[in-house]
Amino acid sequence: VNRFEYDLKGFVGAEHCVATSSGTAALHIALHAIGVEAGDEVITQPLSFVATCNAISYANASPVFVDVDLETLGMSPVALKNYLVEYCKMEGGICVNTITGNKIKACVPMHSFGFPCRIDEIVDTCEQWNIVVIEDAAESLGSYYKGQHTGTFGKLGVFSFNGNKIVTAGGGGCIVSNDEELAKRIKHLTTTAKIPHKWEYKHDELGFNYRMPNLNASLLCAQLEMLSGFVSKKRELAANYEMFFKEIEIKFVSEPKESTSNYWLNTLLLGDLEERNQFLDSLNSNNVMTRPAWELMNTLPMFKQSEKGSLANALYLADRIVNIPSSVIV
Ligand SMILES: *Cc1c(COP(=O)(O)O)cnc(C)c1O
Repeated sequence: VNRFEYDLKGFVGAEHCVATSSGTAALHIALHAIGVEAGDEVITQPLSFVATCNAISYANASPVFVDVDLETLGMSPVALKNYLVEYCKMEGGICVNTITGNKIKACVPMHSFGFPCRIDEIVDTCEQWNIVVIEDAAESLGSYYKGQHTGTFGKLGVFSFNGNKIVTAGGGGCIVSNDEELAKRIKHLTTTAKIPHKWEYKHDELGFNYRMPNLNASLLCAQLEMLSGFVSKKRELAANYEMFFKEIEIKFVSEPKESTSNYWLNTLLLGDLEERNQFLDSLNSNNVMTRPAWELMNTLPMFKQSEKGSLANALYLADRIVNIPSSVIV
C-alpha cells in the first residue's frame, strides 16, 4: 500500500495519496473529512454514476444538481455560478441555500468518461463561495486539463480501481491532496482511527475500515506501470473511431479544448432518443455491447426530491449518449 500510494501520487503530481477499499469509500471519507454533516448540501451533476450521490447520502447530506456542459459532459461552471447567484447567499462566511436554509459545504464535479470538465473555473467559483471542491476523478486517471492531471485541482481528488476502470485491482480507490493535515486525517479515518502504538488498541474517534488490502495494492503497482501504455492504446482506438464515425456522419465525442482525455469510454451522440434506441437495439442484437448513459441522478427514487437548477443539457445528453466498446487490447 505504501509503495502504491507513492507511485500514484507521483503519476498524478499530488503531494499525498491515501489508498482505500473503493472509489465510493474514498468519496464518502473525503466528504466526511472536510466536515460535511447531517443536513448539509453538496453540489454535484445529474449525469454521473450513482456512487457520487450515494457517498453524499452516506455523509447524511443531500445532493444539489447543476447542469453539465455539452462539450465536456461534466459540470458546467456557468450553471454552477448561476445556481449560486440565484439561490444562495453567504452567511458568516458559509454558503447557504436560501430555498432550504441548509449549508452548502462541498461541490463534487465529475470528469465524465475521462473527459476533463472545466475544473479551474469550478474551483475559482467555489473559492468565492467558500465551498470545498472534491473531484470525482474515478474515470479520469491519465486525463489532463491544461497540462495538469485531473483530480489535483480541488482540495481532494478521488480515483477508483474497480474492475471496469482504466487500471484495476478488482476493487479499490484512493484520495489525493496537497493538504498534509487533511491527508493524515483521512489516513487515520480510513484505518479505524487507531492511535499508532506497538501494542495498544486505542481509537480516538469513529473510524472506518476503508483500507486497501496490500494484495490489491501489489496488483495496482504492476497496473500503474502499464498505465501510460493503456492510455496510448485508448487514444489510438479513439482516433480510429473518430475517423470511422466522421465518414458515416455519427457524432463522436472528442476531447474538449485544452484537455487530454484517457478516452476511458468512447462516446457517441445520436440524433434523438428514437435513433439512440434503434442503435442500441441493432448493435446489442449483433453481440456488440453498447449502452446508454446512466439514468440521470435527479430521476432516481433516492434523489428525486433534491434541489436542482435547470438541467437542459443533461436531459439532452441523456437521450443521445451511447458508449461503445473501449477495451485496451494489449
Ligand atoms: C466507478 C466510479 C465510482 C466509484 O468507484 P467504486 O470503486 O466502484 O466504488 C465513483 N464515481 C464514478 C463517476 C465512477 O465511475
